Amino acid sequence: MKILVINCGSSSLKFQLIDSETEGVICKGLCERIGIDGSRIVYTPVGKDKITKEEPMPDHNRAIELVIEALTNAENGVVKLEEIGAVGHRIVHGGEKFTKSVVINDEVLKAIEDVSDLAPLHNPANLIGIRACQKVMPGVPMVAVFDTAFHQTMPEYAYLYGLHYSYYEKYGIRRYGFHGTSHSYVSKRAAEILGKDAADLKLIVCHLGNGASLSAVDGGKCVDTSMGLTPLEGLIMGTRTGDIDPSVVEFIMKKENASVADVTNILNKKSGVLGLSNDLSSDFRDLEDAYLKGDKNAIRAVDTFVYRVVKYIGAYTAAMGRVDAICFTAGVGENSGFTRGLICDKLGFLGATLDKEANKVRGEEKFISGADSKVKLLVVPTNEELAIARDTYALCK
Ligand code: ADP
Repeated sequence: MKILVINCGSSSLKFQLIDSETEGVICKGLCERIGIDGSRIVYTPVGKDKITKEEPMPDHNRAIELVIEALTNAENGVVKLEEIGAVGHRIVHGGEKFTKSVVINDEVLKAIEDVSDLAPLHNPANLIGIRACQKVMPGVPMVAVFDTAFHQTMPEYAYLYGLHYSYYEKYGIRRYGFHGTSHSYVSKRAAEILGKDAADLKLIVCHLGNGASLSAVDGGKCVDTSMGLTPLEGLIMGTRTGDIDPSVVEFIMKKENASVADVTNILNKKSGVLGLSNDLSSDFRDLEDAYLKGDKNAIRAVDTFVYRVVKYIGAYTAAMGRVDAICFTAGVGENSGFTRGLICDKLGFLGATLDKEANKVRGEEKFISGADSKVKLLVVPTNEELAIARDTYALCK
């Protein structure tokens, strides 16, 4: 079966067509600037050159039409429309309602809408993507795969904040966690690579990209994760603060006569390694180059990022009582031997050692721990689209 995987944002739509039998990507691409001037679709049918088309896209319906057109056109299309057996949608927030992927029906759409206030930027865009697909592909089954679902196994003491309990009861204020599809995929893959039953393993997954989060996975189940009610909590990220004293919000508001929206924007868009480096860059490639040249701004940003990761690894080891393996994934985790090296050099307290030669790896599955390491260290490239396609196939075959 050919599965179309859709990741719909407010002004963009990423897609991949995946063959469920071979698990190979047939075509992947992106619609950009939906609803804005200068919109375009960029896609690459496998084995062919990248194709870019400037096309007006006033809304997501038009974007989906163009995706279907790109996939099925006579000249360089890759499938017939009737061959697309199902569509898998990445949905950011499933609240407490969704603990696993589900086939989309009216009740599911309503439930996704109901939790939209927990992810006001993402869930409405995800819903628009589903409705646009339903319009263009009526009758094709669709599946919702939630970023939050994998984390729903956290115990109450890990997901509750120290707020009055009524806020949880009234509004659902708690830790939900994100990147769940990635944490799930990587932890399962790590168990396979380690040749062990997931039930016997205590793993820490470090998803280090522009957005970054850690999870503690005990016996195949998530028992803690660093992102919270929103993806702002936890690690220092490309432009997000991660953990911060909430009083900082009021403090900045008073000092700079700023609104809540202003400060929210600062915390999400102008902080993290970008802010810590005095606006040098949010991109770890730039920061690494500058770090190696002795740039103080880059050194401050990267060292602070690394320290926070190591602190969480310590906390999650304590939470699980032990750790068998630490996995690195996403843009930085998969590609940056430099940043992985800085993190792993601080894991001596676990008896972990790094194989410096192996740590040169980029974007491939590989053990990077030394032969004498008490904890296995490994790089496991994430594949959220494949994970979505697998869930979609399993529910629609
Ligand atoms: P997201 O999906 O959260 O936008 P990614 O997982 O794609 O982010 O990670 C993007 C980040 O990965 C970039 O900001 C960049 O800092 C980092 N990155 C990618 N390739 C490399 C590399 N070769 N060396 C260091 N960092 C890299």
